[in-house]
Amino acid sequence: GSLAERILATVRDVEDFPQPGVTFKDITPVLADGELLAEAVQAHADPYRGRVDLVAGLEARGFIFGAAVAMELGVGFLPVRKAGKLPGPTVGVDYALEYGSARVEVHAQDLPDGARVLVVDDVLATGGTAAAGCRLIELCGGSVVAVEVLTEIAALDGRTLLEGYAVRSLATV
Ligand code: 5GP
Repeated sequence: GSLAERILATVRDVEDFPQPGVTFKDITPVLADGELLAEAVQAHADPYRGRVDLVAGLEARGFIFGAAVAMELGVGFLPVRKAGKLPGPTVGVDYALEYGSARVEVHAQDLPDGARVLVVDDVLATGGTAAAGCRLIELCGGSVVAVEVLTEIAALDGRTLLEGYAVRSLATV
């Protein structure tokens, strides 16, 4: 089948994780499949050869795909981390969750002014995390070329929060 079909067949639905009522999309079987992993990384990278200066990966599974995509593109990798993990100096953006708020941070000194950045994550759900990551990159003087995700949960409408950004998913559920 197509890459999208094989990703969908490999991602595992886990009921009631991390909380009752939530169906978690577990992408670790994709990581475990060497052929599929390589194809996914190539598919993420292909549209951006020569078009980006840096790949930003969203903690934590965005680190796995993002670092691989960065190597495929021959550019550096910027970890976008949850609050308090980077030694600093950091620049951060706060964003709303369903209950409460969260914060993402980067080492701005590792993001050259004007850098063209590709944002990578595993799953696009509500879009809050990716939108905060994009705003953070812009706050640091970078420009977001696109957001790449392995899997998009269409029912959660993450693209609404990412209006104005080019969003691409390799597979949509
Ligand atoms: P959002 O901010 O779009 O609601 O949630 C996306 C963030 O939470 C991503 O960093 C993603 O890794 C994680 N996430 C949310 N739901 C899922 C899911 O069902 N499966 C996986 N693997 N990650 C999820």
